[in-house]
Amino acid sequence: MSLKGKSAIVTGSTSGIGQAIAETLAGAGCNVMLNGFGDAGAIEKLRQDTAKKFGVKVQYNGADMTKPAEIADLVAKTNAAFGSVDILVNNAGIQFVAPVEKFPAERWDAIIAINLSSAFHAIHEALPLMKAKKWGRIVNIASTHGLVASKEKVAYVAAKHGIIGMTKVVGMECADTGVTCNAICPGWVLTPLVQKQIDARAKEQGIPAEQAMKNLLAEKQPQLQFTTTEQIAGLALFLCSDTASNMQGTQLVSDGGWTAQ
Ligand code: NAD
Repeated sequence: MSLKGKSAIVTGSTSGIGQAIAETLAGAGCNVMLNGFGDAGAIEKLRQDTAKKFGVKVQYNGADMTKPAEIADLVAKTNAAFGSVDILVNNAGIQFVAPVEKFPAERWDAIIAINLSSAFHAIHEALPLMKAKKWGRIVNIASTHGLVASKEKVAYVAAKHGIIGMTKVVGMECADTGVTCNAICPGWVLTPLVQKQIDARAKEQGIPAEQAMKNLLAEKQPQLQFTTTEQIAGLALFLCSDTASNMQGTQLVSDGGWTAQ
């Protein structure tokens, strides 16, 4: 499918799932605004490599997703650079693991800000631009944790359930506008966000990281395989296609059987 002439913002695209989505959209001919933290040299290399490989315009904006004014600026700068914001992928996210009574209030605030409120602020700014063009795609990267819970992830599970609710409301409000809003729910995907959890478990239990990885999969995913970043990016591309134009306010799940149990 071709997204030639369209432009996308992918939040948190300097790593993991967001990076794969940015590259996949660029591969379909879409101009892309990268966002996220990381080493400035590595981000510039990613920007240049993606632009060169796919022959599209790629820019970078370092907006901090905890800051509404910077999110508004990200959307405005993308519109100014590319002439439209056709696709918004709300992907930036962080994790913190602790029992609720030991969960630091500061981590709660940060997770709610980055994993949930940032999507509201970005949609708030981008939706009028999409509606004016009578076409748009909002893709929210939720999680299996938007559908079911795990212990010690109170902020993450609350934020991901929240983003699924937000997806439904925005989807309803977008009906008949040419804009769709849907969510993707990945199970375990081997990115730095999950590697940190594997390393922490290995340390805590005194076992090799390889064993901690196998245990982590076995606990949740009957298929015992990670979903890949490319598979999630493929689902995001699908949601941008005409085939998905009647999908509204719903979720696509790729979790190796996690939530079928
Ligand atoms: P990752 O750590 O590889 O990438 C996270 C990205 O978010 C990075 O680019 C980082 O710089 C960016 N980011 C973090 N804080 C930010 C901030 N304040 N402002 C702007 N950017 C910020 O993680 P990932 O696994 O690729 O996660 C991406 C999304 O997928 C998250 O929303 C996560 O919850 C979701 N998800 C991941 C998994 C998984 O197993 N990895 C499963 C389900 C859902």
